[in-house]
Amino acid sequence: MAPVQFVNVRKSFGSTPIIKGVSFDIADGEFVILVGPSGCGKTTLLRMLAGLENITAGEIRIGGRVVNRMPPKERDIAMVFQNYALYPHMTVAENMGFSLLMNDVPRAEIEQRVKPAAEILGLIGLLDRYPRQLSGGQRQRVAMGRAIVRNPQVFLFDEPLSNLDAKLRVQMRAEIKELHQRLKTTIVYVTHDQIEAMTMADRIVVMRDGIVEQIGRPLELYDHPANLFVAGFIGSPAMNMIACTAAAKGGNVAMMADGTKLPLPAAIPVPPGRAIVYGVRPENVRLDSEGLAIRVVVTEPTGSETQVVARLGGQEVTLVFHQRLEVQPGDELRVGINPADVHVFDRETGQRI
Ligand code: ATP
Repeated sequence: MAPVQFVNVRKSFGSTPIIKGVSFDIADGEFVILVGPSGCGKTTLLRMLAGLENITAGEIRIGGRVVNRMPPKERDIAMVFQNYALYPHMTVAENMGFSLLMNDVPRAEIEQRVKPAAEILGLIGLLDRYPRQLSGGQRQRVAMGRAIVRNPQVFLFDEPLSNLDAKLRVQMRAEIKELHQRLKTTIVYVTHDQIEAMTMADRIVVMRDGIVEQIGRPLELYDHPANLFVAGFIGSPAMNMIACTAAAKGGNVAMMADGTKLPLPAAIPVPPGRAIVYGVRPENVRLDSEGLAIRVVVTEPTGSETQVVARLGGQEVTLVFHQRLEVQPGDELRVGINPADVHVFDRETGQRI
């Protein structure tokens, strides 16, 4: 186990800057997930930590040691990729032990290390099988087993679940989380799936275009997104963002373009007349017979909840009700918003007010 530090790390491919000054610390034993849209630099950052890419500027430290010039083999890390790349002609046991064999670890010791890893991963009965005789989830577990037997200081995962079907992904999410709780090894994990990040991470690093937008515990990011980008990225369905103007006379009211009034939290000092984005999560809009009138556009019942797209003051909003609702397109609903649930952003800077 080891802490990891990124200190003003930069990376350019040719003259194109890709990572533009990234600094953050990962504590010993922490499970940190890097998320962000495609191309934001998550994989590049992970590959720099692994030693598979040079660092243009800044420092990366593992266990307090600067590793900028250290070859991958000496960094004491193990990486699990999206395509697990198992050797087809080797059994599960041979695949798991292969890197140890390459490092001249005696066969008896390899066996001693493969067994407990296989036990943790539920692979004991499959050790003599070949990869073609395994399901996708079992192959992914072998890939993790191959990393575990090396007992590294840090595990790096690069979208390890994206080749699996939805059901298996949910199962593997729980397994990886449990694995981390047992091994307590530092994990740096890349995904573009914010649900994966929310459910597994101790802390999430939200990246965009080579910079870090925000770092925090999953619910911290959910409850207090620092800016419009994080607010829109974390949460599914996404937060409703409504262009408004804080009422000129103050009074904790935001006005939509058509004059519809929305309640603002008293605790947030929004300057009167300021152009804002009014953010409210779909599940924070409640049915309220005294509330605002909205017109239903589409309903999507999922069984446990009802998702509704509706028009509010000329804008479409998405709402999620944790109940069954017998409504049809064209129906009117009345809804209320608790001001304490509202997120307010400066429309010009995109920053949270
Ligand atoms: P994804 O979720 O799609 O995997 P990502 O956030 O992991 O995206 P990276 O793979 O780190 O993104 O790529 C970041 C940017 O760097 C992209 O614009 C990509 O085209 C560019 N890039 C990555 N590797 C190279 C390379 N070897 N040469 C030139 N450009 C590269």
